Amino acid sequence: MSGTPRLPMVAGNWKMNTTVAEGVALAAAVLERCSAETAVDVVVLPPFVHLQPVREVLAGSRVRLGAQDVFWEDSGAYTGEVSAAMLADLCDLVLVGHSERRHLLGETDAETGRKLAAAVRHGLVGIVAVGETESEHDAGDTFAVVDRQLDAVLAAQSTALTADGWVIAYEPVWAIGTGRTATPEQAQEVCAHIRVHVERRLGAAPRVLYGGSVSAANAAELFACPDIDGGLVGGASLKPDVFATIVAAAGTR
Ligand code: PEP
Repeated sequence: MSGTPRLPMVAGNWKMNTTVAEGVALAAAVLERCSAETAVDVVVLPPFVHLQPVREVLAGSRVRLGAQDVFWEDSGAYTGEVSAAMLADLCDLVLVGHSERRHLLGETDAETGRKLAAAVRHGLVGIVAVGETESEHDAGDTFAVVDRQLDAVLAAQSTALTADGWVIAYEPVWAIGTGRTATPEQAQEVCAHIRVHVERRLGAAPRVLYGGSVSAANAAELFACPDIDGGLVGGASLKPDVFATIVAAAGTR
């Protein structure tokens, strides 16, 4: 995406929250508050079972729909899994490698790479989450960890990744759901490092988001950083007024 403006993205990761009815109402509230924001790529990531009804709510709008995970095979005996071939009928983005999947469910760097490959194969934009744990942060290993995670993802691709075919979300694990946000300086430093790292390998980097306790209070200063192209928002994405404030902050970038 070098040379072209990077449209800020704000993606709301609802995680395992809301019933289907609550999710439909939340999507309608996001649509009402955010659909006029043309300077931001607004995305909601509801649970799988919400995708079809939320898709109907968002139909014809600028608010985009994504899933929170995907399996790497297209079909077969993989009970409980959902493939990119299935998602491609319902949404246009998918999150892979979220730290809750890596750390609670044991997903590896290589598996995250296979998930991105499946997404890309089916025309989905993959949002790849990377980030270090608190102990890795304290040990000064942040760059090494995100480089390792990204290199594993890149190694798993058999087709070329284009800058607009995926998105990276830098999410320090110690900042997710903790209320402890990285400072704008810390987030900027890592997002800039990620951009350079990927540009060196691919020639062009995708948009790089920051995630980790983004709120109405801190969004503007995070998004003002030159290498932060928006946010991946968890808890605050469940509150439509707060989410809309965060989206508006990205629109003033
Ligand atoms: C997330 O789930 O990706 C996230 C960043 O969560 P939170 O905003 O709640 O920290």
